[in-house]
Amino acid sequence: MRPYGWSNLRVPSLSWGQHTSRSERGRRRRWPIAPEPTRPAKSAHADPRRNLPAIGALSSLPRARRLIERHGQAAVIASLRDVLAELRRTAGQEGLEDPAEGVLNIVEARLGVTMSPTLLQALNATGIVIHTNLGRAPLADEAQEAIKIAAAGYSNLEIDLETGKRSSRQLHVEKLLTDITGAQAALAVNNCAGAVLVTLAALGAGGGIIASRGELVEIGGEFRIPDVVRQTGGRLVEVGTTNRTRVKDYEQAIDETTRVLLRTHPSNYRIVGFTEAPPLPDLAQLARSRGLALVEDLGGGALIDLSMHGIAGEPTVQASVAGGADIVLFSGDKLLGGPQAGLIVGREDLIQRIRSHPLARALRIDKLSLAALAATLRLYLGAEPREKIPVLRMLTQPPQAIAARAQRLLEALGAFEQVAIKLDASVGYAGGGAMPMQALPTSVVRIASERLSVDELARRLRMGRPCVLARIESDALVLDARTLADSEVSIVAQVVRSALQR
Ligand SMILES: *Cc1c(COP(=O)(O)O)cnc(C)c1O
Repeated sequence: MRPYGWSNLRVPSLSWGQHTSRSERGRRRRWPIAPEPTRPAKSAHADPRRNLPAIGALSSLPRARRLIERHGQAAVIASLRDVLAELRRTAGQEGLEDPAEGVLNIVEARLGVTMSPTLLQALNATGIVIHTNLGRAPLADEAQEAIKIAAAGYSNLEIDLETGKRSSRQLHVEKLLTDITGAQAALAVNNCAGAVLVTLAALGAGGGIIASRGELVEIGGEFRIPDVVRQTGGRLVEVGTTNRTRVKDYEQAIDETTRVLLRTHPSNYRIVGFTEAPPLPDLAQLARSRGLALVEDLGGGALIDLSMHGIAGEPTVQASVAGGADIVLFSGDKLLGGPQAGLIVGREDLIQRIRSHPLARALRIDKLSLAALAATLRLYLGAEPREKIPVLRMLTQPPQAIAARAQRLLEALGAFEQVAIKLDASVGYAGGGAMPMQALPTSVVRIASERLSVDELARRLRMGRPCVLARIESDALVLDARTLADSEVSIVAQVVRSALQR
């Protein structure tokens, strides 16, 4: 075993040509290679392999000692061994004028690549507030602070400080969730996909799970409701049609094996036109009269009504609970604006069954997410969740505030020859499967260069430090001010300026 994660890194063979390792497929990090050969090896007699320095001699050179100081003995020796072995295999350091220096050059460059982080800060100028590829919800200060405390040392994660006895980590969020949503009980797991899985496994296994054909969604990443139901050991019973499903359809499908009525919020799509779906209270009444559990997978998980901010059609968790859903499932890092988590709220007896299912342990929420979740939920009980929770702040900020920020960005960018830069109106989206049809009016800076293609400009911004992610609209690069913080404006301007200057 080699330390420093070398064992996880498939070390590419050295070749003389332009070579990048797995970078091309995934990380796009250049893997240092040996230089072009000055001449090919001619005969065994002149076998350059014999000129390769020994590892002991190499590691005692002053330059190697400096590398060891910086990266540690084990990593440097491991890298030296790799590079020497590869050079021996590929028959040559003939291109290296000074073999020792040449080997150390490669080792130094490789250690630099390996030791630098791949997960980097990105500035989001896409206008998409909940962007899964950019990590979904940025956390409130309070949530960041809570993570720091939980991460830095031990905590009372699962211990009752009064009695010294073992307790449940769920206690840190359960009361917050029930207070906010009005549900009897609550449980937090790893994510909402996990919440769906454990809930249906606990409540539906061995029986029928009835769902509307209009709601058999794929959430993304191959997470499809029919497949999930199959995994849980339940049997999916499809009712209604793609566009219209009535209470009567559910009613007629119920038999003695039925366990669950499943309702899924069509997060990332809408069926429009001639449509019908039963109102929640009607379905709830049916479930109650037949002794079935009505499970609603809301996904988005709005805890405050955003309709007065132009965001309609996202039912709140409270409305689902009050509307009679026995169990409501939602994400922690979509509209809630917290860390990745799956929240399960509802009837105490059902939550108890979910809690004691083995999958609940497998999908347990980790302590850092739990800490951030509790801190975020506490903000909902405070005075200004819209101010303090970044997702809510970005979604509810007044248009003038976005326009003013775009104006400041425009001014910070300045002018460039052969580049058209202007303030403009556009529309953005909430993202995260929330409100796919809901265009949010926004203000943007639009950039079109005569020298650079829009793709190349976008690439340069992505490769900037910090990375800047933008939107492309027709042939222009669009920087959306909705998803930028005030403090990020000048940094974005700097990255863009340097991309345009090169
Ligand atoms: C997003 C979503 C999920 C999955 O949530 P994750 O927290 O990403 O696992 C499940 N169901 C619905 C309806 C969703 O919108």
